[in-house]
Amino acid sequence: MNSASYDAVVIGSGFGGAGAAHALCAAGLRTLLLERGGWPCRDDQDWNQRAILIDKRYQSASPLLVRQYGSSDFEPLYPNETLGGMSVFYGGASLRLRETDFARWPLSYAELEPYYTRAEQLLGVHGRAGEDPCEPPRSAAYPQAPPELSPPARRIRDAAQSLGYRPFPIPLALNFSDPARPRCILCNTCDGFPCKLEAKNDLAATLLREAQAQGLEIAAGAIAARLVRQGGRISAVEGLDKTTRKPFAISARLFVLAGGALASPALLLRSGLGGPLVGRFLMRHCNGVVAGIFPFATNPEQVFHKQLCLADFYEDHRAQHGTATGVIQDIYTPAPQVIRHFAPLGLKRIAGLVAGHMQNLLCIAEDEPLPDNQVTLSAQRDVFGLELVQVQHRYTRADCARRDYLAARARQVLRAAGALLFKTYRIDSFSHAVGSVRFGTSPETSALDPHCRLWQTENLFVVDGSFMPSSGGVNPSLTIAANALRVGEYLANNFTSI
Ligand SMILES: Cc1cc2nc3c(=O)[nH]c(=O)nc-3n(C[C@H](O)[C@H](O)[C@H](O)COP(=O)(O)OP(=O)(O)OC[C@H]3O[C@@H](n4cnc5c(N)ncnc54)[C@H](O)[C@@H]3O)c2cc1C
Ligand code: SF4
Repeated sequence: MNSASYDAVVIGSGFGGAGAAHALCAAGLRTLLLERGGWPCRDDQDWNQRAILIDKRYQSASPLLVRQYGSSDFEPLYPNETLGGMSVFYGGASLRLRETDFARWPLSYAELEPYYTRAEQLLGVHGRAGEDPCEPPRSAAYPQAPPELSPPARRIRDAAQSLGYRPFPIPLALNFSDPARPRCILCNTCDGFPCKLEAKNDLAATLLREAQAQGLEIAAGAIAARLVRQGGRISAVEGLDKTTRKPFAISARLFVLAGGALASPALLLRSGLGGPLVGRFLMRHCNGVVAGIFPFATNPEQVFHKQLCLADFYEDHRAQHGTATGVIQDIYTPAPQVIRHFAPLGLKRIAGLVAGHMQNLLCIAEDEPLPDNQVTLSAQRDVFGLELVQVQHRYTRADCARRDYLAARARQVLRAAGALLFKTYRIDSFSHAVGSVRFGTSPETSALDPHCRLWQTENLFVVDGSFMPSSGGVNPSLTIAANALRVGEYLANNFTSI
């Protein structure tokens, strides 16, 4: 791979990269995918809470430098990396944005709908239409029905219904039904962990494998360092092998960048590409977790229960703020040793003791795109000699108000389920990062055109979560996958003229 030429090179193997690579390979284009992470291990340690959450066996060697919550300091934050991107660690929640979320987008829900349907099919989403109170119209049923609710999820359903809310099953990209693949055993180490059985429909187990069968070449452990521009076109990507540090340069007709909403703008900036809007308008949702403490063990069988969603409040702030409010979802409780590890000094023992009596609800609130919420490059370099990615972010008062509004309703549901005490945590990670290379109708207000092409660069397309001009109020992965399939189809159909 030291130097080679392809029809298309895709950088990054998350929902954006895998979706685009799948569409390009289906059209017969000779495609290479570069991914800095290695293949997921799929061994016992992948379900070991210490190995994944404390020792962080997938941790990248390149930290992000993050300044948030009004702090004056940049703190190092180490993301995970692996083939399949964050899909390997994600919880599988696969929701569509609502029609109202597209008000500031250069395309409508109706235009993206066929690709949502395709993404649900490729990812094997298990869901049930007709119960989500603000569900957008669909052209096809979900590929599979959801599994039965487990006891902790039933507890939340009953409590929410007693309050007059309409909880519905989270559409999930886990394999509960296909006998040709390993099936989910409803373990309690899903969200945040790779599935050692390969029953999670992550991208390494699904789209990338299918694309490989259609000719996709995958270079795992290959770091793209910069794109080389000649005239109005990208001629090559330069990088290095993570293990041997051997450099490479690869030329292609098309380049698809999908390194995620933090790495993609950094790669563009490192390459001198994109102008003043690249890196700006970063969003991440304004998320919080409400923990309820119950007078009984909440999940003695340690079973999977990220199964319920509440969207009753989705439109409550639309008129006042012009955004969605967001959703509430059931999520798992980490093991006592993890809760103890991350609890503040002095509270470690008690936190470990109450872990088995906790049940948590995740509140996902839409956040606003601010120009100063930004990805830039640091003067510091990583072990590969590349400038570190620097992230600065703050929430608006309205972002926090929407999150707190959801948190109040989450507490109400947990109280109706029997919880006596409550603790609310904010989420400090950038797990839902989007928006830093937004698409739009004009280079004055966006970095990408409506086909996700970098303005003024004929053959470079950005398809990870960074294309999104607003974050909406649901988990982002299905939208990123649908858009990547849309752009991939456009590239395949127009390959000779791009
Ligand atoms: C614990 C967790 C749980 C989540 N749960 C859900 C959920 O239930 N539902 C949902 O919708 N969303 C969920 N998310 C969010 C979701 O996973 C992300 O929104 C989504 O994966 C983003 O896709 P992406 O293609 O933009 O980027 P990523 O998935 O981040 O993929 C980018 C890839 O590019 C690679 N890369 C970056 N730079 C380079 C480079 N220079 N050279 C080569 N490769 C590079 C990275 O290693 C990575 O593999 C979760 C996230 C986390 C962390
Ligand atoms: S819940 Fe199912 S898909 Fe998730 S990690 Fe466990 S077995 Fe795998």
